[in-house]
Amino acid sequence: MLIENNRLKAKPDMNTVHFGSYFTDYMFTMTYQDGKWQNLQIKPYADISISPANTTIHYGQSVFEGMKAYKRADDEVLLFRPMDHLRRLNNSARILDIPEIDVEKVYEALLELIDIERAWVPKGKGQSLYIRPFIFATDGFLGVNVSKTYEMYIILCPVAAYYAHGFAPVKIMVEDQYTRAVQGGLGEAKTAANYAASLHAGLVAHEKGFDQTLWLDGKGHHYVEEVGSMNIFFKIDDKIFTPRLDGSILNGMTRRTVLQIARDWGYVAEEKTISITDIIKAHEEGKLEEAFGTGTAAVISPVGQLHYKGRDFVINGGKVGPFAQRMFDYITDLQNGTVEDKYHFTCLVPRKND
Ligand SMILES: *Cc1c(COP(=O)(O)O)cnc(C)c1O
Repeated sequence: MLIENNRLKAKPDMNTVHFGSYFTDYMFTMTYQDGKWQNLQIKPYADISISPANTTIHYGQSVFEGMKAYKRADDEVLLFRPMDHLRRLNNSARILDIPEIDVEKVYEALLELIDIERAWVPKGKGQSLYIRPFIFATDGFLGVNVSKTYEMYIILCPVAAYYAHGFAPVKIMVEDQYTRAVQGGLGEAKTAANYAASLHAGLVAHEKGFDQTLWLDGKGHHYVEEVGSMNIFFKIDDKIFTPRLDGSILNGMTRRTVLQIARDWGYVAEEKTISITDIIKAHEEGKLEEAFGTGTAAVISPVGQLHYKGRDFVINGGKVGPFAQRMFDYITDLQNGTVEDKYHFTCLVPRKND
């Protein structure tokens, strides 16, 4: 199952490495053909070859995940909710009619891959090893059809601290023209198409001086959905709110983690349908205390300002709020193993290849 790599790369400078641009020495692969997943391998990271008629290129049948490995003070490596991520990959796969994977087997392979690559997990504050599992169709056929063959990969890249210069609350444009996903579509799947649908609006927001877009529902542009590629939370009148999962929103792992911890801390944390007018109203009444995005990359991304229909709404003086700060600190402490993980979110990568 392991094909040795005889040309190991130098590790990058973790202060200058850009997200997703520098990959480790090995990757995991397996193929789906004749009705089953087979040929599980860990092999040297390398380019791959596909047919110009590859159905993913033409019709987009692909899904992916994003999770991270962290190095504990004693040099052991921790994964954060890896089985939940692999189960979500299967959920995305079901939505796109991609054959499901055996999560137990892939988890074993992931542990072996990370064990081999443990020297690539950086130890500096805020740094981690980003893990990108993905599956895509490989039929070389121009007809529109569910593919009969697929490949799965797991590739790894060391990532620098997201907040190398401290928390920087973002300016968000509330998007009332473009749509990322609609109910009945692919919004709940982590799939390329949702990103394709989001790129242009993101570019326009950037050109206007905003960091991200806050997506509203595709039918009436009235209800809050997600922010960029993160889930969104609001703290209003000492209660925590995030939009209900309605099929067009991704079921974020960080979202789930924040909801559980907030409730444990004694907060009322509700998943509900939230309109943008409710948010503006709460702001005008002085009750919108905090807003923040959640996702694996940043963990917590405080929102300092919302722009909606030509008006700017500054939240918490444009500064990170105490709830967002406390949540960020606690989750990153769990991930790095500096506090006891009573939730069993983290999994230790066993050492087999010493
Ligand atoms: C990945 C992703 C998120 C965040 O999910 P996490 O599991 O917390 O990383 C949110 N929205 C979209 C659209 C995503 O693709």
